[in-house]
Amino acid sequence: MFEQIKLDFASDALEPHIDTLTMETHYGKHHATYTKALNDAAEKAGVADMPIETLLSSLDKVEDPALRKALKNNGGGFYNHNLYFSVLSPEPQKTPEGELKKQIETAFGDLDSLKAQLKAAALRQFGSGWAWLNTDKSGALSISQSPNQDNPFSEGTELTPILAVDVWEHAYYLKYKNLRADYIDALFEVVDWKAVEANYQKALG
Ligand code: MN
Repeated sequence: MFEQIKLDFASDALEPHIDTLTMETHYGKHHATYTKALNDAAEKAGVADMPIETLLSSLDKVEDPALRKALKNNGGGFYNHNLYFSVLSPEPQKTPEGELKKQIETAFGDLDSLKAQLKAAALRQFGSGWAWLNTDKSGALSISQSPNQDNPFSEGTELTPILAVDVWEHAYYLKYKNLRADYIDALFEVVDWKAVEANYQKALG
């Protein structure tokens, strides 16, 4: 049974950066729907007890093409949103510390350069999709982007995403309309770098 991450803040807590109605719709409807559809498909495929990362990395083992597609789309939708919401906070730690800070300096120079590159990847993603800050198994950081609900696992990479930028229109259109860049700037205002660091440490085991 796959479960949505629990939010420890109210739907209006990220205002004015992320608006209440978007939070209610995004977390309460979109993410909930992906999660339910994943659980239905995983039950049918007999993979309901598999870690989601493993499931997404081994989709080629699912023989039925319709079931494989359902697991890819809804499993991605489930995982990607859990990661997205896991680093948002009304009281974010504004800058990274420790090992993550060092690795950001190695890969990008500084935090502002990382944000600029992640924003560029998010703007470059044509149509719906995601931009990612990833780590490899050695702890080295990189940025990538994916269409739809794909992610580095379903794309067959060895990378683990630690920060997700959702650029589906449902993530920003109610407030920002066509202004994806403004939404990304606002999103960075509520990214908790302490939570990103926790994802980083978890990814490295
Ligand atoms: Mn979304």
